[in-house]
Amino acid sequence: MFELPEYINLAKQINAALNGKTIQCGNLGNSPHKFVWYNRSQEEFTDLTQGKKIGKSHAKGRWLFIPFEPGYTLLFGECGGKILFHQADSKLPKKYHLYLTFTDLSFLTATTQMWGAMELYEQGEEFKREYVKDMRPTPIDPEFTFTYFNALMDESIGQKKRSTKSLLTQEQLIPGLGNAIAQDILFNAGLHPRHPIDDLDHAQRGKLYAGIMDTVEEITEQGGRYDEFDLFGQKGGYVRIMDKNALERPCPQCEGEIKKIQYLGGACYFCPNCQQ
Ligand SMILES: [Zn+2]
Repeated sequence: MFELPEYINLAKQINAALNGKTIQCGNLGNSPHKFVWYNRSQEEFTDLTQGKKIGKSHAKGRWLFIPFEPGYTLLFGECGGKILFHQADSKLPKKYHLYLTFTDLSFLTATTQMWGAMELYEQGEEFKREYVKDMRPTPIDPEFTFTYFNALMDESIGQKKRSTKSLLTQEQLIPGLGNAIAQDILFNAGLHPRHPIDDLDHAQRGKLYAGIMDTVEEITEQGGRYDEFDLFGQKGGYVRIMDKNALERPCPQCEGEIKKIQYLGGACYFCPNCQQ
C-alpha cells in the first residue's frame, strides 16, 4: 500500500511528466475488482474526461488529487499497486483498473492490489468525500508542529488507552502513515510499538515527533520504499529498517536480534533492546 512518501512522490512525478497533457480517452478497468471504488460509469468517465488537460497534482495523506482541467479532479485514495506512466508505443498492461490515453499517444494506467478509490469529481466536490473532508493535518502540512502533535496526543489520551503504534496507524489520527512506515518511525524514536502514549515524557514525545518528521522526509527523498513502485515502474530507494527481512540481520544500532510480534492488525518488527 502506498503511504504518504509514495503519494508525495507520485504527485511530483505526475507534475513533471503529465502536466499539460490532453486526455484523448479515459477508461475505467478491464479487470473487475470488487474493492476498487468508482463513482462513475464507464460511459460517464469517458465522456467527462475527453479533451481535459492534466493540471497540477498534489498529495494529502493517502490521497492523490489530479486536476482534469477544466472542472474535474481525479482522486486516487488508499491504493496500493501501481500507477504507471507509459511512453507512446509501450505495451499496455494486461490488467488495469484505470487507463487514460493522451493526445500524444502516451498513457497512464493504474492497477490496485488490495483496494482503493479511483473517483472523478466536479472540482471542489472531492473535498467533501468521506475521509477527505475531515482529514487532520498530515506530517507535511505546516500545521503539523510539535505543539499540534502534543495537543493531538493529549486529546487521544483523553479518549482511550492508546499505544505508540495505535497513534501512528489507527483512525487516521496522522493521515498518510501506515503499518510499514510506523515501524521505522518507532525504531528511529527508540519506542516500543506497545508503549502507552499516556506514559511518554516530554523528551519521548519529542523523539516520536522527530521520528515521524525525519522518517517521512527520508523515505520521500529516496523516492519511496524499496517494495513500492513509482510512476515509471522503478522501485523506491528507501530500504525499510524494520520489515520481514530485518529478522535475518542484526539491529543496525545495537546489533541485537530483531523480534516480530503480531499486534494491531499486522506483523510488527522491532528491536527489544533499542525500543523499550
Ligand atoms: Zn537495537
